[in-house]
Amino acid sequence: MPLHLLSHPLGAHVLTHLRDRTTKPALFRTLSYQISLLLALEATRDLPTREKTVETPMEAMTGRVLGTSLVVVPILRAGLGMLQPFHDTFPDVSVGYVGLERDHETAIARSYYCKLPPLEGKRIVVVDPMLATGGSAAQAVSVVKAAGGRDIVFVCIVASPEGVARMQKSHPETPVHAGALDRELNGRKYILPGLGDFGDRLYGT
Ligand code: URA
Repeated sequence: MPLHLLSHPLGAHVLTHLRDRTTKPALFRTLSYQISLLLALEATRDLPTREKTVETPMEAMTGRVLGTSLVVVPILRAGLGMLQPFHDTFPDVSVGYVGLERDHETAIARSYYCKLPPLEGKRIVVVDPMLATGGSAAQAVSVVKAAGGRDIVFVCIVASPEGVARMQKSHPETPVHAGALDRELNGRKYILPGLGDFGDRLYGT
């Protein structure tokens, strides 16, 4: 499974401010938008294009336009913090939602909500900011595959080595795009150094 790490200097800058515990929710949301936009561009770098002829004010010319449309699938709830830049930037984007919760007895992520648009022929981008254990990400990609998704990428802001290994094992063909690969998980399955609880910081809860 290819792991792609963001290498743009603006990505590093934004991520450092996201990590800063003094960053307040309003700025945290803006920074999430910015890094998600950079990640969206990376995750779609290989999208196919097709020819299109247009008339400029001067003459006709043949340019290129996107040849595949996008489905973005945020994993509820924190994935919602990454959705907007995809929506704002891509011309033909539909949105699906996957809600996952951990079964108290088995500790396995279970889908409690799933609403997906038609997936055939689309690039499907599953988004969740923190790839921690990888359980939710792997489960969400399984749900998308079961619904007919074929061209799937997973995008997160911070990944852990454990999460990357889990995705590698469960979905070796699914590329993972991350803003950074952090050191480890702690005993409560939070990423270190990480940025804390993404959902809480996004919504100020
Ligand atoms: N989810 C978070 O919000 N933060 C982590 O560090 C891990 C999972």
